[in-house]
Amino acid sequence: MPLKLISILPLILLFQWNSLSAQSLSKYEFSEVHMGTLFSIVLYADSAEAAKQASDRAFSRVEEINQVFSDYVEDSELSQISQYAFYKEMKVSDEMWALLSLSDKFYRASNGAFNIAMGPLTKLWRRAIRRQEMPQESDIKEALARSNWSDVSLDKSKQTIRLKKEKMRLDMGGIAKGYAIDEAYQTVKQLGIPRALVDGGGDIFAGEPPPNSKGWKVMVKLNGKTQDIYLTNEAVASSGSTYRFIEHNDVMYSHIIDPRNGYGITNPNRINARAPNCVLADAAATALSVMTVEEDIKSLEESFEVSLIK
Ligand code: ADP
Ligand code: MG
Repeated sequence: MPLKLISILPLILLFQWNSLSAQSLSKYEFSEVHMGTLFSIVLYADSAEAAKQASDRAFSRVEEINQVFSDYVEDSELSQISQYAFYKEMKVSDEMWALLSLSDKFYRASNGAFNIAMGPLTKLWRRAIRRQEMPQESDIKEALARSNWSDVSLDKSKQTIRLKKEKMRLDMGGIAKGYAIDEAYQTVKQLGIPRALVDGGGDIFAGEPPPNSKGWKVMVKLNGKTQDIYLTNEAVASSGSTYRFIEHNDVMYSHIIDPRNGYGITNPNRINARAPNCVLADAAATALSVMTVEEDIKSLEESFEVSLIK
């Protein structure tokens, strides 16, 4: 056999094996409610059992993350920090540290538009939206004074956190869901199912594409219109006031807050951000909803490899 043929033979075999194995895959879809929203996992697997087992594990991982990062769960690690880190320096878990550090980077890169220390403000506006009653200006001012990221001190060498003011509250609602989506995908991938997509209430990570396709077709809504995009090993997240807001004197105030003035944002557009993973897309979508200065938006996009879908 000529030498050249020998060297390409394994490649041909590999290619055929790949397409054969792709053909024996079937599509499966599973949905469950987690983090207050509907999570769906679509995957291509070679048996229903493998698909079910992988998605079950992925949903458990999402729940595990919720138990760490939710500010609704009283004994979550995040709630414990809000309760006790004013009184004592607290050592945090590795994954908490990773998201705290990333939140710190987003705070800096967004000029303070993304700020997980604005828990007192979210609490105030959540109640206002629930009751459809505008918050008092004095309450906004008071909550604003307890919402400074500069009052959070992180010690990298000890992996600890300390809150400098009493009654501060951290809120990771703008970043934790994206992380959970990434981790759900990593879970199914590690179980040998890389051709999968995870959707958490519209925020999506799409992994390896479905067999014989150029990527996962995902529909995004943009200013009332829809647009199809194709994703492979990439994420998209959206953010905006479409669903949760309070109307006052013909102005709509969102559940997304500008931490620099304490008010819900009033821009009615939904923002879609695209990024290499969903934790970046999620935080970027929230940050970009709040940001108004074009130059800041560009610098945020560059710092995190994210892009605003236009
Ligand atoms: P959605 O509610 O559609 O998932 P987001 O991903 O933007 O939208 O998340 C909104 C959540 O982010 C809010 O409910 C709140 O918990 C948190 N949040 C609101 N404003 C900010 C902000 N300026 N910086 C960081 N997190 C925020
Ligand atoms: Mg977000």
